[in-house]
Amino acid sequence: MNLTLDEMIASFGIDTSITTFCNEIENKLESRFKQIDKVSEFNQLKVLKAMQKNRVSDIHFAATTGYGYNDLGRDTLEAVYASVFNTEDALVRPQLISGTHALNVALFGNLRPGDELLSPVGKPYDTLDKVIGISPSSGSLSEYGITYRQVDLLEDGAFDYEGIKAAINSKTKLVTIQRSKGYTTRPTLSVTQIGELIKFVKSIKPELICMVDNCYGEFVETIEPSDVGADMVVGSLIKNPGGGLAPIGGYICGTSKCVENASYRLTSPGLGKEVGATLGITQSLFQGLFVSPQVVAGALKGAIFAATVFDKLGYVTVPNSIESRHDIIQAIILGSPEKVISFCKGIQAAAPVDSFVTPEPWAMPGYDCEVIMAAGAFIQGSSIELSADAPIKQPYTVFFQGGLSWHHAKIGVMMALQEVTKGILNL
Ligand SMILES: *Cc1c(COP(=O)(O)O)cnc(C)c1O
Repeated sequence: MNLTLDEMIASFGIDTSITTFCNEIENKLESRFKQIDKVSEFNQLKVLKAMQKNRVSDIHFAATTGYGYNDLGRDTLEAVYASVFNTEDALVRPQLISGTHALNVALFGNLRPGDELLSPVGKPYDTLDKVIGISPSSGSLSEYGITYRQVDLLEDGAFDYEGIKAAINSKTKLVTIQRSKGYTTRPTLSVTQIGELIKFVKSIKPELICMVDNCYGEFVETIEPSDVGADMVVGSLIKNPGGGLAPIGGYICGTSKCVENASYRLTSPGLGKEVGATLGITQSLFQGLFVSPQVVAGALKGAIFAATVFDKLGYVTVPNSIESRHDIIQAIILGSPEKVISFCKGIQAAAPVDSFVTPEPWAMPGYDCEVIMAAGAFIQGSSIELSADAPIKQPYTVFFQGGLSWHHAKIGVMMALQEVTKGILNL
């Protein structure tokens, strides 16, 4: 095989016009990519320092079984997470089976009947509707007498400070702040903005617990919400901090009290953090965290590349090609179900696993309309790996994220572009 790089790209079915167009865009992104590399370098050192400080050693990779008493690896991993996120304690467990579950445990662990939950940043991520009881569900917070209030962001994406002030009352116990936009096209919040919001709500009621849904935000900036006053940060290990290597898991980092309360909900009152076997996956969790800053950098480059490509072709992208980034998600408003499905087909065809299957929209549990997902991932559902998903509803927006390397993200975007345009660029 003696191909040039462009010929290699063409062998994936990419039209030459698309390759030329994309290569030009890549060249123009050099200075932004350099900034991303600097953030990644900082976070790499942050993680390295946390591992050295907590004396991570070979013995911590040993498996435990059964109750998992005295699991040194698990306890050290949690100490490392607490160092990275600058918190008193952390719960990092394979028994937290997803981001939704981690959020569920953090909420149920820290709320009691009669308390009120407040979201000052609009409606939370879809899968929390049934956790909170926004849509009625057996076992929701609402069924346990925990009420919910929401204050939407203003038209321009700013916090509605007056509305938030009016919403905080004697029952308000926990404030949930979602960093990433999720399946909406609102702007993602920067860590600095989150810090301002936390400061504001605590100035009204100092004892409020501020929880941040940190999904997709980890290592995009050099600080995390827990550096600016969050009492709990919560996320999934099959997104950013698992680095693509964690096979399962979630984390809750925060104050000793919040983490302890969450641990009683995850295992049992009286048991808390003392139990929970790790069955031999601890090494993957350490190693995934270690490579995560670099993996996140690759995913961010892919997101900016996708935004620039689709911006240039006249599509609305959120964030657009020049806005600052606070998570790895790229929303592209494609405007028709056909284009959304084509985009996802292109991403699927670029996958290392299951590249030969065709994604179809389906009624996924936890969502209120059909959803299409492209994911040829090593870890099922892993969205730090190259993936795209879209609820099949107006305005037909596809959410693109991940890529374990920048180069994989790039070919994914090119194949999606090929499918959406059928190789005919209308420049
Ligand atoms: C992915 C995500 C969740 C839920 O995580 P799952 O692991 O899919 O359950 C919650 N909030 C946000 C903002 C997310 O992106």
